Amino acid sequence: MERLQKVMAQAGVASRRASEKLITEGHVEVNGQLVTELGTKVSVHDLVSVDGVPIEPEPTEYYMLNKPRQVVSTAHDDKGRRTVVDILHDDGVETRVYPVGRLDYDTTGLLVLTNDGGLAQSLMHPKYETDKVYIAKIKGKLSREQEKQLRDGVKFDGHRARGAKVKVISTDDSRHTQIIEITIHEGHYHQVKKMLQAVGHPVMKLHRESYGPLSLGNLQAGEWRPLKPHEIHELK
Ligand code: URA
Repeated sequence: MERLQKVMAQAGVASRRASEKLITEGHVEVNGQLVTELGTKVSVHDLVSVDGVPIEPEPTEYYMLNKPRQVVSTAHDDKGRRTVVDILHDDGVETRVYPVGRLDYDTTGLLVLTNDGGLAQSLMHPKYETDKVYIAKIKGKLSREQEKQLRDGVKFDGHRARGAKVKVISTDDSRHTQIIEITIHEGHYHQVKKMLQAVGHPVMKLHRESYGPLSLGNLQAGEWRPLKPHEIHELK
């Protein structure tokens, strides 16, 4: 259930504020009943009309972006930095989509964008635990004991993370760095960086390769594509 003025705004009737005015001034009916109360909530099954004309809900759209570095994962940035939504809009996507969750400014990789508020909320809910696979370049070399700590679940911010899967991909002995694949299930703020910091290996570079059933495939940094119907289905 969503607030009536929000549903109207999402359908492109008017801004939320202007939709509230239409409601209080008696222009809006829900299932044929005049509604003038601002607290009214409606579901997709309710028929909303404005001056007798039914509103059409905006079709839902779903995209996968390979987020480049130095782009923020929000719809708008107060500091005027480029956002992930700007990337899609500059390429001609007109729908008001927003990112599902966040990747840090300097993190690259898979990010889902959609205008499906219900799906976005359930994917971002702490109870939605799905595998997220990251490739991290770290300072130093993981010892067997540190790998075990990550698998058992390290503590950060007073919270014990669920165990992660860890695989060492390569080691550069001369530069004292390692490339690892780490799979986590939750999505706490800066989780991968904090887990690796907690075992003494700061992250130098981070990239998300997959998110639940979705993988980047050969999508390059800055490129995006609509999700396929089966991918949307698997996400839900
Ligand atoms: N974990 C992090 O630390 N940063 C990200 O961007 C994503 C997961």
